[in-house]
Amino acid sequence: SREWHLVARPQGWPTPDDFALREAALPELADGQILVKNSYFSVDPYMRGRMNDVKSYVPPFQLDQPMDGGAVGEVLASRAEGIAVGDHVLHGLGWREYAVVDGSRAAKVDPSLAPLTAYLGVLGMPGLTAYAGLLEVGSFKEGEAVFVSGAAGAVGSEVGQIARLKGASRVIGSAGTDEKVKLLVEEYGFDAAFNYKNGDVTRQLKEAAPDGIDVYFDNVGGDHLEAAISALNVHGRVAVCGMISMYNATEPSPAPRNLAMVIGKRLRLQGLLVSDHSALRPQFVEEVSAWIRSGDLKYDETKVQGIENGAEAFLGLLRGDNTGKMIVSLAD
Ligand code: NDP
Repeated sequence: SREWHLVARPQGWPTPDDFALREAALPELADGQILVKNSYFSVDPYMRGRMNDVKSYVPPFQLDQPMDGGAVGEVLASRAEGIAVGDHVLHGLGWREYAVVDGSRAAKVDPSLAPLTAYLGVLGMPGLTAYAGLLEVGSFKEGEAVFVSGAAGAVGSEVGQIARLKGASRVIGSAGTDEKVKLLVEEYGFDAAFNYKNGDVTRQLKEAAPDGIDVYFDNVGGDHLEAAISALNVHGRVAVCGMISMYNATEPSPAPRNLAMVIGKRLRLQGLLVSDHSALRPQFVEEVSAWIRSGDLKYDETKVQGIENGAEAFLGLLRGDNTGKMIVSLAD
């Protein structure tokens, strides 16, 4: 079985040389374990943080060891109660072709209810992040105006559409290409969108949100956060989900330079970790699957084919090659 190892800790932007695809022998199945042939695995921005040797909310990847992360696949052998050969499972041993997983750490998923990839994206971790971040952390209420950055990505595209479906007065998104901006307005139903590479973010946000915003869902940090603080109305909230503009930075960002505005506007900035919000999962899955079935919520996926392109898929995610969830496909 082939698996991706981290072989050097990136300084700034990672390069292909930081990763190696290696052959590994599979261990024998112990009692309670299953053998899974991975069909898809996820590459996510948070993995960049795990490539640094620092203490964080997830432990760092170890050098010359397989990386891990979300994956879905088919069970080839089982010594675990309640999981049978032929079942499909979601589990945490991605970045490899085959995985030996503890049955207790695998969740059965039904490919007849949704495509397997949906469990890594729109109905999975990024989807719950969007749902919980907007509704619980951002305390969004009907009639409010929402701005989301990274809006054509897995989390952001869902944030904007949930806000629209829950009665936002205005939904604004930013993304890094003109095609993505077009998609936001024409397919996902955003009221306004802009390309942050086309000019000053504060100015572009002001034009897109002349009456201000009430909730900012931050996937990017830096000048996007500064622009949002300027545009937020009194008692506005920021759900601080990610700061991808800083993940490869070697110097701290000078922005936001306007934090003092938090006082006069009585803003609330709150960090968000999806793992705190598991209790919301059943409600999230029920509501979002219904919107997918009715066609009210659309989602895209960018699939990179082949285990050998796994590291390249991750680098592409950081560059913005993806629209919607970035996924590595191992399916034939
Ligand atoms: P995305 O699908 O949004 O992919 C990442 C996107 O980030 C790229 O497509 C790119 O799009 C954009 N991007 C890259 N560099 C920059 C930059 N310098 N400035 C602005 N945009 C940039 O990934 P996810 O939806 O999986 O994750 C989105 C965010 O949510 C990340 O910050 C991630 O860390 C965070 N997250 C946090 C969780 C939590 O529990 N706190 C859980 C899950 C995700 P473009 O072309 O628009 O630049």
